[in-house]
Amino acid sequence: MISIVVVGAAGRMGRMVIETAASVPGFKVKAGVDRAPRPKDWDRALPWFDDAGEVLARGDVVVEFAGAEGAVEAARACMKNGAALVSGGTGLTSSHEQVLETASKSVAILRSANFSLGILALRQALKAVLSALPSWDVEIVEKHHRSKQDSPSGTALTLARDAASARGYSASSLRHGREGHLGVRPAEEIGVHAVRGGSWVGEHTVMLAGPGESIELRHVAQDRVAFARGALTAAEFLAHANPGLYTFEDVLLPAARSEGGRLT
Ligand code: NAD
Repeated sequence: MISIVVVGAAGRMGRMVIETAASVPGFKVKAGVDRAPRPKDWDRALPWFDDAGEVLARGDVVVEFAGAEGAVEAARACMKNGAALVSGGTGLTSSHEQVLETASKSVAILRSANFSLGILALRQALKAVLSALPSWDVEIVEKHHRSKQDSPSGTALTLARDAASARGYSASSLRHGREGHLGVRPAEEIGVHAVRGGSWVGEHTVMLAGPGESIELRHVAQDRVAFARGALTAAEFLAHANPGLYTFEDVLLPAARSEGGRLT
């Protein structure tokens, strides 16, 4: 039985992880952690803390969906208590990432800006399309609900960095929105555009445009359960992993290879 502590338990994703873990055999949610007050409809049988350090024990797996500060605090608490960390929060700067990297020297940490199978498959497809069409322009458009805090999404950044690195462009090739008389689009540019409104769970479209034709690779997350299931798969992997910094690909792609590329 894998003992899960959910950080960001009052949030949209935290609640979905708790609900999903209850229906997947092999997981027991030990506690919820959030700096916000305990929600009125919280199950009183499930312990609630405002600091992960108060509840963690060696062997627990923290599942964090709480943003940059939550991820950093969770990483420090995991390091102190010998717990593993699945980190899904986005909006981390390189100094936040550095804290997680340091913690991963003593505990197992897996970070992903997107725990859906569809995005993992889209990233694989994008590699193939980019190599087939080396000179086509790349633009990324993402849509999220009006309460999302960080822009562009962590997933859009991941896709943009994938494209920049496949093309050999520098990190400064990412162009976040456009306004004004900018002239001709430079060839070595990856456009990234964030749309916010309503209750969109998350939509990412990578557009590749060439002379007289274009391609769009599009992923639509319709339900947060897709991310919750992926995060729990990552938790299962980390429960048996050595200290280190892992990615979602480390969990799913070796299996996908042996099953002929299928992501289940
Ligand atoms: P949300 O605002 O509904 O929930 C976030 C929760 O985290 C809130 O309850 C907040 O009080 C809590 N929190 C913030 N800082 C904290 C801290 N320092 N300690 C404890 N709790 C803290 O947001 P959400 O829609 O659930 O998304 C949460 C995060 O997960 C965001 O960064 C979002 O971009 C990301 N996300 C990632 C994936 C993925 O697959 N990796 C999928 C969806 C959302």
